[in-house]
Amino acid sequence: MTAQADRKSGCLLIISGPSGVGKTTITRAIEAAIPGAAFSVSATTRAQTAADREGLDYRFVSDAEFDRMIERGEFLEHAGVFGKRYGTPRQWVLDRLAEGRLVILEIDVQGAMAVKRQVPGALGLFILPPSEDDLLARLRARKREPEDVIQRRFHEAKREIGAAIAGGAYEVFLVNRDLGEAVALALGIVRAKLGA
Ligand code: 5GP
Repeated sequence: MTAQADRKSGCLLIISGPSGVGKTTITRAIEAAIPGAAFSVSATTRAQTAADREGLDYRFVSDAEFDRMIERGEFLEHAGVFGKRYGTPRQWVLDRLAEGRLVILEIDVQGAMAVKRQVPGALGLFILPPSEDDLLARLRARKREPEDVIQRRFHEAKREIGAAIAGGAYEVFLVNRDLGEAVALALGIVRAKLGA
């Protein structure tokens, strides 16, 4: 099944980028600034952290529930990331698009490629760090994980950037040198796409 999004049926925005690059801040700023914008809450099998709000950031589900959701065809796409599973809710996204809204997916590169195949009109935005050293410093500054996990995320981030460039799912690569500037640039790109 394809889910074509035309001008009347809303706009799908895919935002990706490596851990620690500021994509969640940029995503939430776009959601707040565009009237009617809707953030898609993914289901995940990863553990909830103190920073996560159930139902707002993610829907936390068991492996068995995730399997049932796949069987019932509930995902627009789903992928394994860092050994855990993540999926985008198909019906919710299609319903919001049908309402003519901007729907924002914060998903990884594999997910972006799968969504682009189904919704070719989606806008893909990939957030880049200014440099590899900067990315490593940002991952450490979050103080969320031990050094071995930080190193794993750092190597995964470099691999993901390569995959994003090679994969063809992104129209825009935006370097986050300064968060305010990156938010302003991202908003300008989204508004241009919406014709607003
Ligand atoms: P985190 O666990 O740090 O919140 O997210 C890990 C990665 O999974 C991030 O790159 C995030 O964008 C990605 N992700 C979150 N939800 C989904 C989803 O529904 N599908 C896919 N493919 N990736 C997702």
